Amino acid sequence: MSGYGERNYDPQFRPVRGIYASRLQQFIDRGGDFPDLNLPKFYDVERISLDQKHVKIWWHQIEFKHGSSPVSPDKRPSWKEVIEQDQKGKLDFKEARKSQPFGPSWSTTWFKVELTVPSKWLNSREQLIFEWNCNNEGVVIDPETLLPITAFSGGERSEYLLPPSKNGKYFFYIEAGNNGMFGCGQGSTINPPDDNRYFHLDKADLVLPDWEARGLRIDYWMLTDASRELPDDSWQKQRARQIANEVMDMFDYNDRSSVIACRKFIQKEYFDEFSDSSDVYSKGDVNQLSSVYGMGNCHIDTAWLWPFAETRRKIVRSWASQCTLMDEFPEYQFVASQGQQFKWLLEDHPEFFKNVLVPKVQQSQFFAVGGSWVENDTNIPSGESLARQFFFGQRFFLHHFGSKSDIFWLPDTFGYSSQIPQICRLSGINKFLTQKLSWNNINSFPHSTFNWVGLDGSQLLSHMPPGNTYTADSHFGDVLRTAKQNKSNEFYESGLMLYGKGDGGGGPTREMLEKMRRIRSMSNRNGNVIPKLQVGKSIGEFYENILERTDNGQNLPTWEGELYFEFHRGTYTTQAQMKKLMRISQIKIHDLEWLATKASILYGSEYKYPVNEINKLWENILLCQFHDVLPGTCIEIVYKYEAIPMLENVVKRCEELIDKVVSFFSKKGGMLEKSEPVKTLTWQPSSKSISLQEKNDNATITEDSSFYTLGNGRLKLSIDKKKGTISQISDLVTDVEYLDCKNGRNQLGANQFVLFDDKPLNWQAWDTELYSVNQYKYINDIEDINVKCNDKHRCSVEIIFRISKDCKIKTEIGLKAASLSESYDSLIDISTSVINWNLRNQFLKVEFPVNVRNEFASYETQFGITRRPTHYNTSWDVAKFEVCHHKFADYSDFSKGVSILNNCKYGFSTHGNLMRLSLLRSAKAPDAHADMGTHEIKYAIYPHMGSLSTDTVRAAHDFNYIYNYPVPKTLTSQINDLLTIHGDENIVLSNIKRGEDDAELESEYALEKKHERSIMVRVFESLGGEAFGELRTPLKVKEVYKIDNLELETFESVRVSVESANFNSIPIHLKPFEIALYKIVVDK
Ligand SMILES: [Zn+2]
Repeated sequence: MSGYGERNYDPQFRPVRGIYASRLQQFIDRGGDFPDLNLPKFYDVERISLDQKHVKIWWHQIEFKHGSSPVSPDKRPSWKEVIEQDQKGKLDFKEARKSQPFGPSWSTTWFKVELTVPSKWLNSREQLIFEWNCNNEGVVIDPETLLPITAFSGGERSEYLLPPSKNGKYFFYIEAGNNGMFGCGQGSTINPPDDNRYFHLDKADLVLPDWEARGLRIDYWMLTDASRELPDDSWQKQRARQIANEVMDMFDYNDRSSVIACRKFIQKEYFDEFSDSSDVYSKGDVNQLSSVYGMGNCHIDTAWLWPFAETRRKIVRSWASQCTLMDEFPEYQFVASQGQQFKWLLEDHPEFFKNVLVPKVQQSQFFAVGGSWVENDTNIPSGESLARQFFFGQRFFLHHFGSKSDIFWLPDTFGYSSQIPQICRLSGINKFLTQKLSWNNINSFPHSTFNWVGLDGSQLLSHMPPGNTYTADSHFGDVLRTAKQNKSNEFYESGLMLYGKGDGGGGPTREMLEKMRRIRSMSNRNGNVIPKLQVGKSIGEFYENILERTDNGQNLPTWEGELYFEFHRGTYTTQAQMKKLMRISQIKIHDLEWLATKASILYGSEYKYPVNEINKLWENILLCQFHDVLPGTCIEIVYKYEAIPMLENVVKRCEELIDKVVSFFSKKGGMLEKSEPVKTLTWQPSSKSISLQEKNDNATITEDSSFYTLGNGRLKLSIDKKKGTISQISDLVTDVEYLDCKNGRNQLGANQFVLFDDKPLNWQAWDTELYSVNQYKYINDIEDINVKCNDKHRCSVEIIFRISKDCKIKTEIGLKAASLSESYDSLIDISTSVINWNLRNQFLKVEFPVNVRNEFASYETQFGITRRPTHYNTSWDVAKFEVCHHKFADYSDFSKGVSILNNCKYGFSTHGNLMRLSLLRSAKAPDAHADMGTHEIKYAIYPHMGSLSTDTVRAAHDFNYIYNYPVPKTLTSQINDLLTIHGDENIVLSNIKRGEDDAELESEYALEKKHERSIMVRVFESLGGEAFGELRTPLKVKEVYKIDNLELETFESVRVSVESANFNSIPIHLKPFEIALYKIVVDK
């Protein structure tokens, strides 16, 4: 015990923890009362602000007329164009001043920067920084190579680390977009934009930094975070605070050498020896299991509070910065998704793509993930659209990077369809990442790591980052939360931390990478109270590790069916025009592929399948399915100038290309031949008995003082003249009554319009809230009611309701003659025009009280149905008070049911005896004018005997695929019979197209050109049961394969049998809800 004194002459106190904790902030804080008496004194050796001597800045504004389109190409000239013009002296660049405003919103300002390093700095070996803050988004461009170097986004990211220069001279351009990271919202980011915002130049500094002092700042920051965030009962917390206080005691603001001493002291007491290097992850404490995997990303919404045109620039800004950062931090790995974003980058900056980005992919630092064309909405797009998201995304990745992604990357997006697992598995993907369900506002999703099982039983290894964000700052607290909030750590101990600023914030920063090194160093030294953070492992390695440690996922909990998002339920309805155009686009391109495939197979060399044009149209459809665009949550300019015109053009172009096929057929069949319409749906010949048809099949209408009565021998329909609603729908054969206007909250009748008050807690375009369900008004102010149509083919009644002085609803309720050609029973078709919809925060729906009772209703989803509760038993049932559906919703009991079909709507609810179709919303943010104007909506009531059957599936298809194409009568059977389907009616022939790799097509998406002629046929089982059938074709079939969705992998070879001299038969066997793609190779 030598050295231990005998007597104590220097008593010590136990520090008062609260005071000693509060003190720490002073040490590194640039603000406060004492920055010059603390470490900030040393951050800069010297700093020169814009002086037009050492730091010279000039600016040039790209012309922008108020009220013009902010996305037209003249507003955003290419880098090459601007720099060449400037070098020719043609541009007017003026000297810039500090605090000078630049704008207005959405315009572009160019800056030229010339830096001259003071001669006394030249001997310093410190790396210099150019700091820039104009509060907008900017990118540094090398004038020699035209390559992007790094980027700025206001205060979030303001440093450009200057490369060494012998003569101390720098010259570069900055292209600045006059918008913030989150656009230009007025008052709040999600409010409509202020179109007249200006951005002030706050900072243009040349800095000689003191890197040791800045290093100490990070050391100290992490140390104090540990002292604040760790649990009170850990010695690690108490020691961290004590050491941090001792550092402050050691520090001398008059002695720069104390900076070094402080760093050494922290290292000795709390870090390991690798705290400053990438070795910290590979050399320190490698045996202990990791709790947190850090993965860099920069979630860029493809449009949201800014247009697509700005996203193209956000991509290059963000990814250029990341590639630069990768050179400095070898452990750094970054993931980016969305084929469309890569394609834009390739179009706008091919040199950067090929010479900078591709090498980073090859050296496994930059990872293209996701496999889809965009991070799409999964509620509203059709099944075929979801399949094509992966088809185009994966083929783009394969073409440019040589490999596809095996992870569906969808951190944001408002709910996840139950068919995603199957479609992913068919597209080479077996892993899934999301985070959004952490936003649920009713129930907390119970898993972090789990197997997600889809409608058909397909599963995806799924992970939700436990930190509940995809834009962590890599704070100590982010790491700690990721470990602490892991809900599945009895099965798997680690969670992903997705770090990096999103949406133009530019992704991870140097500071984040530095902080993570320190955090790992602290856990190497002090054990697992500080979660062990792993950086430098790929996202693939993270998922592989899950499989290794959970017996290939078998030990993980499962979640069956859709991942319903308990939030943002308004997105099934907001921006109605967008959704309607999406429905039409999907149908038109289906028709185009149907006709063009048949023409190109029948007439080989004479008609060329326009594959590249079709693919271009698909790219646009898929782009508009981005998770803010189709859901209706973007600002107005996205719809006005980009998405709506884009889809209108898709429809127009499809029609032009269809006209070409049709006129080609006309030529082949002889122009003078009589033409006959062909439909593009192919159904099994109906097995229905048609004995009912012997009864009166004409449509009739009669009238008395109270009711109009419509009939057609099968159905009788009464319309109440006072209420303007349908009060009775009876089956004339069985006497069954389908409506229930005596019970429940709506006793007024069917086709009753209702206005719900729609003031959510926040997020207007996104949300409709539970309390709205009970705050409503029936619309019953009838302006006019009369017979609109009365002939033997169809009868109808038109009712006009007044909503306000200028806003009206005109609704026409019709019944057709029961026709012999119909394979299913009659339906009641309704056309509703909402004229001059101009309300504020009202939600228009239409109700149908029905004589049905069941615990569940069925809703069409992609290639199948989703069943959802019609009661409020549990909070999980309550959460589904508004749900998404596609072409139909069905409510049936054992003996009968009612389906509501629609041609452009997606929101629905069924509770008690009430079915309710959502029609229009009137949110005022972020688009102040969303949905204002006139809307045409078609829907139908389809009452049926028995429970939900293929009749509903078929009726809903027929209700949507309404287009007929006239071809010469001599050709119709040849066209229709080219490919037919037979067998069980629950098999639907959904889409046909040509094989992408058929060499004769010359597709830009072809990967391995094959000298063959092939047809791709997509079929699916629609209601959840095993099904057997066959495809028949008169063509000479060489081979048939069941293949994957990417048209690359063969699952099985199918034996074709020759059934007769007229056709070959291809057997189909589908499991419940199976989606299958058949490739039929035919003789040329
Ligand atoms: Zn997003």
